[in-house]
Amino acid sequence: MRERVKKISKNLNKEFFLKKLQDLKQELQNNLTQIKKETEPVSCDCSIGDTREELLQVQTVMIEALELRRARLQKVEIAIRKLEEGSYGICIDCEEEIAKERLEARPESDLCIVCAGSNS
Ligand SMILES: [Zn+2]
Repeated sequence: MRERVKKISKNLNKEFFLKKLQDLKQELQNNLTQIKKETEPVSCDCSIGDTREELLQVQTVMIEALELRRARLQKVEIAIRKLEEGSYGICIDCEEEIAKERLEARPESDLCIVCAGSNS
């Protein structure tokens, strides 16, 4: 039985992407803190139903935004770990190298454009 050799990403500017990922991580963390502050339960003295509903709607949107950022932050952290291991920039699905342009646009990408396209 042949052992499957994992591809190691090459031709990648490790420092460049590490910096990018760390910046993104910081930005997302700041974002999360800010959204959390805004989603803190607000006591509503108003008796007008509409306003309360609106408020709930805003909170739902906020929570969704929070979840999205939290998920992205997780991906960023995984990407940082991969960068350190040397497997960064490899599609987790087909194990092909992810296009540099894609990584530059979304450094936390773990799927190549083909796999990302067929997944969504
Ligand atoms: Zn792929």
